Amino acid sequence: MIKALSTIGVVAASLYANQAPAADGKFTLPALPYAYDALEPVIDAKTMEIHHSKHHQAYVDKLNGEVEKTTELKGKNLEDIVKNISKYNTVVRNNAGGHWNHTFFWGLLDPSAKTAAPSAELQKAIEDSFGSLDKFKTEFENAGVARFGSGWVWLIADKDGKLKVTSTPNQDNPLMDVAEVKGTPILGNDVWEHAYYLKFQNKRADYLKGWWDAVNWAVVSEHYAEAVK
Ligand code: MN
Repeated sequence: MIKALSTIGVVAASLYANQAPAADGKFTLPALPYAYDALEPVIDAKTMEIHHSKHHQAYVDKLNGEVEKTTELKGKNLEDIVKNISKYNTVVRNNAGGHWNHTFFWGLLDPSAKTAAPSAELQKAIEDSFGSLDKFKTEFENAGVARFGSGWVWLIADKDGKLKVTSTPNQDNPLMDVAEVKGTPILGNDVWEHAYYLKFQNKRADYLKGWWDAVNWAVVSEHYAEAVK
């Protein structure tokens, strides 16, 4: 079953904060709020299709396999599982992380995002923490390039609302109680090869640089407002 995301605002408000399982305890792959080719040429249609319908689906299926045989997982929402991930096994860690991270990621992207900019509040917070939006982007791209193997690069707000760039291995994220640097994700990019290899091959830096053209800053700004309120 595919659950519709409806609008970008709903992506930020509900999927990000409260990803409840269905009545039977199972999670579902969220439908994308845009077509697979909508992010061309930043992200090609084939990459989007495989990434969503194969990779993300597999995280959902494997997580559901664990839900079936694990009493403590039944009825838990995704964010609750992720925040308490040290209670669970590696299969749950990888696949609950994979489901959370990808749902968050799809919600950050929008084909019409080229004209969008951070809110005044987020722009100021970025300038306070990094000096400028361009300096932030460079630090974020560098952290993505520096992540060895597979993982994610994040912009997070820490418990005092200060912005930081961090990176996690595999499908970990900064919400997890096992994360080295914890905080609330504001923005995140997937630097697994499956996110870019068809178009960019080994050139991860080019993928990271071009990716900004698909970012929906309205959603990112909502995440920031939510994190610091
Ligand atoms: Mn991925």
